[in-house]
Amino acid sequence: MSKILSSETWDRLRASGARTVALQFPEGLKRRAPETAAVLKEAGYAVVISGDPCYGACDLATDALALADVLIHFGHAPVDDHPGVIYEYVQFDFDPEMATKAIALLDIKRPVGLVTTVQHAHLTDAVVAVLEASGFQVVVGEGNARTPCRGQVLGCSYASARAAGTDQFLYVGTGVFHAIGVGLATGARVVALDPYTGTAEEADSSRLLRRRFAQIEKARQAKTVGILLSTKTGQRREDLARHLASLSPVADIICMQEVSPDSLLNLGYECYVNTACPRLAYDDQVRFPVPVLSPPEYEIVQGVRDWDDYIIDEI
Ligand code: SF4
Repeated sequence: MSKILSSETWDRLRASGARTVALQFPEGLKRRAPETAAVLKEAGYAVVISGDPCYGACDLATDALALADVLIHFGHAPVDDHPGVIYEYVQFDFDPEMATKAIALLDIKRPVGLVTTVQHAHLTDAVVAVLEASGFQVVVGEGNARTPCRGQVLGCSYASARAAGTDQFLYVGTGVFHAIGVGLATGARVVALDPYTGTAEEADSSRLLRRRFAQIEKARQAKTVGILLSTKTGQRREDLARHLASLSPVADIICMQEVSPDSLLNLGYECYVNTACPRLAYDDQVRFPVPVLSPPEYEIVQGVRDWDDYIIDEI
């Protein structure tokens, strides 16, 4: 039996009385679809698989769910309440002793906030134990409805970092985007530790801020502005889109399921403001033909926010 379905998921599936099950996988797990479907069919369920791209629990396959009784969403923790959805977290193990590789970059005299992604959240207590054994005081903040695991951060929510209230953090995970986000959201110093390679480095937000400043300046020349409003389940920020559109007579709200460079090019606006997944503006700007600003950045362009009040966009 595929380990991808936990006993909790089987229990919930049986309790639901479902006969047809929809499956949704993020891109990196999609190849598990055939074996998962086979296991479910063997157990007597009919199966429907969502083939659309999926990058988070903010993007539930409601079309596939409409054809089924329940949807099993793999790889992510819930970001909101949605009836008929079972979340199957996927855990990636690492050696908690890897945390010792970051110790030289942390100040032992000050408490350390610990943050990570949902895939590693099951090892949070083990990492805390390693750091405490080395003499550190460690704080793990509670998240919010969007980040249900302790210490969990997302590219659209750093609530657990704010809750920790520390002025230095250890982020355990790959890449530096979340670490930079924690730094911008809290003003704290953040050390990023790759738990597989043991590489530790201080997250530096200055390059990102310089790039964003350049886009803000470019956007000031735009004669047309498209306010992007996502139709995805956990990204739809209608009130925010309306507020942003009200700041300028040349701004129009544009509803979209998937924001792509081609679709923005075809629409032809000179600047876009992204109310969908915040990472689109920060991570993907290089793919877009014109500035794609975050909501706070557009407020700076419109003079309703000072550059000194720059904040990272969160949902
Ligand atoms: S909005 Fe973006 S960062 Fe947040 S859960 Fe969705 S894909 Fe992830």
